[in-house]
Formats: sequence, structure tokens, C-alpha cells
Amino acid sequence: MKLDPWGVSDIKDYTRLYKEFGLSPLDEALVTKMRDNRYVRRGMVFGHRDLQKFLEAASSGEEAAVMSGIKPTGVFHLGSKVTAEQMIYFQRIGPKITVFYSIADLEAYADNGIPLSESSETAIINVADILTLGLDPGRAVVYKQSDALAVQDMAFVFSRDVTLNMLRAIYGERPPGLYLSALVQVGDILLPQTKLFGGPKPVLVPVGADQDPHIRLTRDIASKHRTDMGFLEPSSVYHKLVRSLKGDLKMSKRDPYSMITLSDDPDEVKKKIADAFTGGRPTIKEQRELGGEPQKCPVYELYLYHFVEDDDFVSRVYNECINGERICSDCKKEIAEMVASFLKDHQHRRKGNMYKAERMLEEGSELVRRKPF
Ligand code: SF4
Repeated sequence: MKLDPWGVSDIKDYTRLYKEFGLSPLDEALVTKMRDNRYVRRGMVFGHRDLQKFLEAASSGEEAAVMSGIKPTGVFHLGSKVTAEQMIYFQRIGPKITVFYSIADLEAYADNGIPLSESSETAIINVADILTLGLDPGRAVVYKQSDALAVQDMAFVFSRDVTLNMLRAIYGERPPGLYLSALVQVGDILLPQTKLFGGPKPVLVPVGADQDPHIRLTRDIASKHRTDMGFLEPSSVYHKLVRSLKGDLKMSKRDPYSMITLSDDPDEVKKKIADAFTGGRPTIKEQRELGGEPQKCPVYELYLYHFVEDDDFVSRVYNECINGERICSDCKKEIAEMVASFLKDHQHRRKGNMYKAERMLEEGSELVRRKPF
């Protein structure tokens, strides 16, 4: 199985990640503890590394951090929304938890050739999106990698901890810029534990499954600097990749009709959903007789994971589908209205957060211009 943070990760069976990469499944106790997290109780969040350690520290009032980021190659889509909502959820579980949100503009340049001047505009919208979803700005540090001399310094220091063979083993054969941006990400993840931010502490990184190579590299480097810098190995929690509306395992940023973004025109989004692949049968007659296949259906996933909080509602959709009481046009019409109304409200409130987002980026970037050690 291939996990590629910069390309296409082909994950048909998430349980294989436990065996092949050493992730732990979420056991019953963890699921029970986090039942108020829709992504956890519905199985979108499927694995972790040392999540208990973070939860124990955070819920007992210790200082802790939640760290993740976004590559500013475009506006928020449902995958970025899942990551952002996970960060917000974990920010709320303890009084002393700070969120660190890195705008990975150096990575966007190395991987996608996007000039920093262009990505800085996108970055403001990205930050306004996470604010609108509910991030507490009073306990958050938001910055761009290109401003973060602290993170760049750390990448340079950590370059002595790796060999080319090690990077090849984790990431495959890649241009030097991507290896460099991987080290910058290690800097991002370990930044909350530097003296600049009060020293070593438990850190949780919520990410999509395809980002695990960065976590493995960071945990390895953190353990090498346990003695001299005191770093603790960061914990991580993984969610599944968002399926394409066309039915593929992962949506593609290159095909706008394969995904919903938080900047989509609400009427346009209705067309995307109307054109989406479903788990329906070739004819209505067959669907009435055999029922649909919600487990294959990206439209059902909009209910299950993304837009419906009420468990009874989701169960009803599932049962009506498998019993043939519901046909795909019923679902498409219903969920399209719900998504369009969510987008209308979100985009309206986001407008009011644009100025705050710009200020947060300036303040955060100022903080991380200093020396990390
Ligand atoms: Fe998907 Fe709904 Fe069709 Fe079932 S009826 S396959 S849930 S769109």
C-alpha cells in the first residue's frame, strides 16, 4: 500500500494501515470517550498513534497543543473542513490547549509551483474558513511557513538527523524541494514544544491518512532529540480521505466536479450533487426491488460524515436506501438543499472573519520569526 502526501494515495482498506504502518485502531473506550465527535462515532476517524497520552494530559488541564496545517493551493474542500473541525474539537477538550495552524506555502511552492504572493491571498480565506467553523482565536497561533524563520531553522537542524536513503524509504524518489519541505513540516509539528512556546508538551496532529509519512518522520526526529531538546513524540489521529463525488477513492483538486468546496456557489453545488455518482441501481424498478448500496455512495457520505449531526436521520436514510424506499433523486434533492444552505450561511459569516484572519496571520507570522531554541 502506498501513502503519498503529495500524490494519489490508494487506500481501499484502512484496516491495513494498522498492520503495515503501525497505526492503532480507535478502541471502544476511545470511541465512547469521544462520542460527541461525529467523525469518530461514524467511523471517519479510524486510527491514531498515542491519542490516549494527549487526551489524558489535555483533559487534566495540562498545557498541550493541537497542530496541523493546510497547503494553500486552493480554498477549503470537505477534506480541509474535516481536518479543521478535528482541530477545533480537540482545542475544546481542555482549558490550556493551543492550536497551531501552519499555512504550508513553502510546500505549495515546492510541490505545485505556486508563488508565495499568490498563496498569501488564499491563506487569508483558509484562515477565515477555520475561524468561521469555530476555532477559538484566543488560543491559536496561525502562520505562514515562509515567514517562520523558527521552523526553517529547525528544518536545517533536523537535516542532520536524516539520510537520503531514509527519506527515499519514507517518501520514494522525490525532488530535493519536497524532501526539504518534509523537514519544514517536521519543524511545524515540533514548533509548539520549543522554548519559544513554553517547551515540551503533548501535541496532537489530526491529519488525513495520506499524511502519515510526515508523522513517522517527525516522531523519529523527536525521539532523536529527546535528550538535548526534550521533545515528546507527537500523537496523531487519522481520518479517511474524502471520496470523490464521481465515486473514486479520493477527490481530485484538478477536477472541481469531483469535490465540494466551502467557496462553491450554492446553486453550482446543487448541480455537482445532481451529477454525482451514487450507489443506486441502473433502474428505479431494480432499486425498488433490490435497494441501493449506500456503502458505495458518495452522496450518502455527505449525510454520514459531513452535513448531518442527527444519528437517527442518517440511520433513516440508510434504511430507506437499502429497503428500496428511497431513490437517488430523493437523496440528491434533499442533501443538495442542506449543503447549499450550509454554504450560504458559512460564506456570509466568513466575510465577517476576513479582517480577523488577516490580522491573525500577521500576528502569528511575527511570533514565529524568532529563534526557536
Ligand atoms: Fe445513495 Fe441515496 Fe441512492 Fe442510496 S438512495 S444509493 S443513499 S443516493
